[in-house]
Amino acid sequence: MALLKVEDLVMYYRTRKGTVKAVDHVSFEIEKGETLAIVGESGCGKSSLSRAIIRLLPRNVETYEGKVFLNGTNIMELSEERFRKEVRWRKISMVFQGALNALNPVLKVGEQVAEPLVIHMGMGKKEALKEAREMIKQVGIAEAFVDRYPFELSGGMRQRIVIAMALITDPDLVILDEPTSALDVITQANVMNLLKRLKKERDLTYIFITHDIALASELADKMATMYAGQIIELADSESYFGKPLHPYTQKLLGSVPTLREDKEIAPIPGTPPNLLNPPVGCRFRPRCDQAMEICEKEPPMFSLDGHRVKCWLYRGEE
Ligand code: SF4
Repeated sequence: MALLKVEDLVMYYRTRKGTVKAVDHVSFEIEKGETLAIVGESGCGKSSLSRAIIRLLPRNVETYEGKVFLNGTNIMELSEERFRKEVRWRKISMVFQGALNALNPVLKVGEQVAEPLVIHMGMGKKEALKEAREMIKQVGIAEAFVDRYPFELSGGMRQRIVIAMALITDPDLVILDEPTSALDVITQANVMNLLKRLKKERDLTYIFITHDIALASELADKMATMYAGQIIELADSESYFGKPLHPYTQKLLGSVPTLREDKEIAPIPGTPPNLLNPPVGCRFRPRCDQAMEICEKEPPMFSLDGHRVKCWLYRGEE
């Protein structure tokens, strides 16, 4: 049984200009110990998808439906109170982008790491602080920093603290939302190494949200491309990087510079669609140089030996 199975998840929100289709009928699965990286340009709905899974919905949410099974239980059916008590942070936790925004500036970092144990697990403060010290050491921060405030730590250390907060309750699934985007490249590499080490040591399951496809390749067992609120390609990493099928994924990969190959970097033409009014049919059609007449109809998800792709080029190849 999959650890997480998302079926037809929809999350639309209302704005003054109309309805934004941020997550539009998204389905995927993750096994225990796997990392699924979800990549796409800014504004494609990948952060909205992570928030829809952990049910941190915007106040102006208009439609929120579908099924999300965690270890076989449909957590979409739980009341908000049960979800908060039993799922959020206990079973699914999240590392947000921009650690400084995620931390309370007037609380010592040790207390902040201990907080989820007190709030979500009902642990006494003294015992929680002891566990927090241990967790902070595990993310590579010296014990002396436990009693410091966030502003006394570097950006990389703060991000490690946020990772410690997400892991302290030993959750089944950790959602990493652009966890290194605010960091310089050296610190980014250190945090990525930490995430890899923790994954191996603790058999963690991650959803890794990023716009950086090269970074995703370091951690991912499975890759998904998101475009205009939809997942348009989903495959194991080997197949995805070895033989990308969707024209958009091919262009995403073509826009990444490599050290080993002397290849021409090709930017993706056009701009991402407005989710208020996405194109009819295939949403990539206005930017696709292989578009056909049939692309005016929305393509289904085709499966080619388990490599799934939402593109009419593959009809009849299943
Ligand atoms: Fe291009 Fe058509 Fe495939 Fe869309 S369905 S990516 S327009 S070929």
